[in-house]
Amino acid sequence: MVHDPDYISRIKSVAERGGDWLDPDTVMSPKSYKAALYAAGGLLIAVEAVMKEEVNSSFALVRPPGHHATRNQAMGFCIFNNVAIAAKFALANFNIGRVLIVDFDVHHGNGTQEAFYNNSKVLYFSTHQYPFYPGTGWVDEVGSGEGEGYTVNFPMAAGWGDEEYLRAFNEILIPVARRFQPQLILVSAGFDPHWADTIAMMQVSITGFAQMVTVLNNLASELCRKRLVFTLEGGYNLQVVASAVRATLDVLSGNPQIVDPLGKATGRKPEGFEERIKKIKQMQHLLQQ
Ligand SMILES: [Zn+2]
Repeated sequence: MVHDPDYISRIKSVAERGGDWLDPDTVMSPKSYKAALYAAGGLLIAVEAVMKEEVNSSFALVRPPGHHATRNQAMGFCIFNNVAIAAKFALANFNIGRVLIVDFDVHHGNGTQEAFYNNSKVLYFSTHQYPFYPGTGWVDEVGSGEGEGYTVNFPMAAGWGDEEYLRAFNEILIPVARRFQPQLILVSAGFDPHWADTIAMMQVSITGFAQMVTVLNNLASELCRKRLVFTLEGGYNLQVVASAVRATLDVLSGNPQIVDPLGKATGRKPEGFEERIKKIKQMQHLLQQ
């Protein structure tokens, strides 16, 4: 549904040959093909459980991540685009026509954006450090053809933190989601915007992630019968990943006690945010709301 059949065969044969580097970041061992299938399939099980109303929300704790994988290329630790496959799977199997993907990983999900760039059935909303790897995700990337207006990028300057992310969610994501009326919300949950994750330079705290998850949980309750499915993307500080996943599950299960052992960031620099959010509101025609 997302990848070239030739690409999938190539990944399989690389594993059979004992593994190899697929790009400068992405290495495969003999078992990586199987792991990548389990990652994509694990998320499909999580989607199925929500769509069949066995649970309201679910979280696929999978590796490898997926949002950088394109139709025929592995990159940025990603082999198959788990979240894109899950969106197509949901559209194909559960009689729905609109899926919202929210991606708060610190990197732009170029593969996910590409998969749905011309598609009005999947709205892709991403916050990500910019300029940064993989280089895509500026505000003027809004989709094309039938998909124009169904890609919403919120590039974040290094140093922004909880307050900026929460405002991006409250002032851009919420009105965009209400306009789109999704029937399912998928979340590419990368915890690498945390201040203690040294791969990038954002200043989000565990409490900040919990606030973002609260917005998503409220949107799912309001718009799509609580159908909300998370999948793990990046996150390279293991204490952060553990605490952030726990905080996510606490919000989803209604526990108000959020544990934040790492505390708030001290290096937040909000400069430039007002101008950026104003520009995005203008592009989305949200200034009146
Ligand atoms: Zn990332």
